[in-house]
Amino acid sequence: MPDSPCRPVPRVLGIAVPTPLRRLFDYRPCKEVPAGGWQPGLRVQVPLGRREVVGVVVECRDASELSLSRLRPVTSCLDEAPLPADWLWLCRFAARYYQHALGDTLHQAMPSLLRQGRALEARTRERWCVTAAGREDAPPSLTRAPRQAELLAMLRQHPQGMVSQAILAQSFTRDQLRALADKGLVVCHEEALAASPAAAGCGLAEPALPLNREQAVALAALHERLDGFHPCLLHGVTGSGKTEVYLQLIEAVIGRHRQALVLVPEIGLTPQTLARFRRRFRAPVVALHSGLSDHQRLDAWEAAASGRAPIIIGTRSAIFTPLARPGVIIVDEEHDGSYKQQDGLRYHARDLAVARAHHHRIPLLLGSATPSLESLQRALDGDYRHLRLTRRASRHAPARLELVDLRGRPRQGGLVAPVVETLRETLAAGHQVLVFINRRGFAPTLACHACGWLAECDHCDARMTLHRQPPLLACHHCDRRRALPDACPECGSVDLRPLGSGTERTEETLAALFPDIPVHRIDRDSTRRRDALEQMLAEVRRGEPCLLVGTQMLAKGHHLPHVTLVVVVNADAGLYASDFRALEHSAQLIEQVAGRAGRAAHPGRVLVQTLHSDDPHLRLLAEQGYDALAGQLLEERRAAHLPPFRFLALLRLEAPREATVVALGDLAAEALRQRIGERSLAVDCLGPVPAPMERRQNRYHLQLMLAADRRSQLHEAGAWLVAWLEGHPEARRVRWSLDIDPQTL
Ligand code: ADP
Ligand code: ZN
Ligand code: ZN
Repeated sequence: MPDSPCRPVPRVLGIAVPTPLRRLFDYRPCKEVPAGGWQPGLRVQVPLGRREVVGVVVECRDASELSLSRLRPVTSCLDEAPLPADWLWLCRFAARYYQHALGDTLHQAMPSLLRQGRALEARTRERWCVTAAGREDAPPSLTRAPRQAELLAMLRQHPQGMVSQAILAQSFTRDQLRALADKGLVVCHEEALAASPAAAGCGLAEPALPLNREQAVALAALHERLDGFHPCLLHGVTGSGKTEVYLQLIEAVIGRHRQALVLVPEIGLTPQTLARFRRRFRAPVVALHSGLSDHQRLDAWEAAASGRAPIIIGTRSAIFTPLARPGVIIVDEEHDGSYKQQDGLRYHARDLAVARAHHHRIPLLLGSATPSLESLQRALDGDYRHLRLTRRASRHAPARLELVDLRGRPRQGGLVAPVVETLRETLAAGHQVLVFINRRGFAPTLACHACGWLAECDHCDARMTLHRQPPLLACHHCDRRRALPDACPECGSVDLRPLGSGTERTEETLAALFPDIPVHRIDRDSTRRRDALEQMLAEVRRGEPCLLVGTQMLAKGHHLPHVTLVVVVNADAGLYASDFRALEHSAQLIEQVAGRAGRAAHPGRVLVQTLHSDDPHLRLLAEQGYDALAGQLLEERRAAHLPPFRFLALLRLEAPREATVVALGDLAAEALRQRIGERSLAVDCLGPVPAPMERRQNRYHLQLMLAADRRSQLHEAGAWLVAWLEGHPEARRVRWSLDIDPQTL
């Protein structure tokens, strides 16, 4: 078959297929040439070993390293038009930056229906209209086709025609439509599904709030720079009205017929935020969350890619949403840990947002009351514009933290007597109280008072958590469960007691102390049922005095106007942890929880229980707030040569047997050191050392850290290490991954 001269068919297609291997696979094109010719971004079905898989064309070439006759042909092409170019760009960028296989990256970043080979809904729709011939009475050709006659009769009643979906919904079939078309009685028009100006228009469904001075200054700065890459850090205390600034920025962006992509930590946890967006705009707000069906997800993707959806809100993975007319990317709570994916493609959605905004040349807005040290340093360096909101929109400034010393004081459900007393007064005044305890379950573990035995997981170096609802021991690291023992497995004593407090125990204690007051427990266990969280929050917003007990789920952006007292049961978790980021994360969490207090009519108080009330970091946080502590931590990071002043990559290795892992870890470190020497790279290779929890899920974990002042050198070393591991036979017996910019060690 001769190739058409204007559309030469390449001899080789470099295709990304879903495997962990970091290379393309070469195929020959199939006979049938896609309508627009072969080009990157087309999905194809290809044979891989004995399977058929869905891959994506990445390169069209005329040569391969293999002889052309040995290449297998593509089975078929699945798309008429390539997947969106901006999406493909982002996937390629992410695969390169995170040293991950492109095939796997593309697969993870596309909606599951596309992954399964389903067609991307056409970006046009078909409208069927009756022709002049069809308008004549009772066309003779239909006497023996009663359904076609009925279909024609229906279409005649719609002078504007009907779209296919509406026709098929009336239980007519495509065959019937085609039969009428063949007879010349109806005709099909393709309609573009581009955003109609009305849908994308700037109409507001509710008026914007008049801004306070600081908000107005921030918004004006953002308005000035709607064209081009302009990264900004909106650094505003909790309740300072950052969301209102986002809303008014989006108003300007969609007024220019551009799209806004908004990332939030967890939509399910903050239905209020989504509701605020939906109330504000007439234009549809597309929300990407875990509750969507596969079809809804594909629809949302298509709506964003075609430009029909002006506003898209989603969690981490929404950064991979294609945009036809990108106008701004907003990352709310940019410090939040949920933006980092911890397996597979270990990307950070905030960092990809920066890359993407730069690529599109559009503004980027990172918002937080407690910015990550990475973003804060870039703002201080002047790489990001630093916009500050120092006042709350309501009357009361965020409350200072009051440290409460736990030493030598008896506790009830984790709380000491003076705290219980303050709680009582607050409830008596008709207000609500939030008790934050970052441990779900009844108690962190079960202990034998006779011999000191502790309930430990057989598979991890960790204690098992005691749960009461339902009663069992559970490991929060591997999810193993065990029935509660009747007696100590070591000494047979029946004196087994819970050690410490989790949310369930604090809930139980508070319910006993305040029998007339409702206690709402909010953690992963109590909110498994859909809507459970929303129901509890709705109850809380009614404003009756109540107690909220919960984990960090409570810290996420909720506006709880009747809460005036926040209690942090234990502030000590991050103070002396081995992970250098623990202190930053723990300070962010405490500040965010504290920010739930006193957001409306009444001022708030925040009581923070600690065993280390003279710890200098904690004191700084309590006396001068997050920004002061962040400044101090930045100094310490600079002195210790740690991020954001240095770049890290972490190689994690795991296998059932310790010896296997250690052997490979040593080999890899040695090979890498040699390579670093040969290439004179300024990269430090630290380790290998056992991971902080050596045994997890009955596997042994080891890690090797790479550190460098220059990102390019770190990447060169990382890429080399990954290639070495891919080629090393011993590495097949070990599960390994390279984490670029790791967030937890
Ligand atoms: P943040 O996102 O900074 O935590 P929000 O945007 O949620 O703060 O604002 C906190 C509260 O203040 C909300 O109830 C919001 O409606 C209100 N608010 C924000 N800006 C204004 C304003 N300019 N005038 C009046 N109320 C405002
Ligand atoms: Zn015992
Ligand atoms: Zn375990």
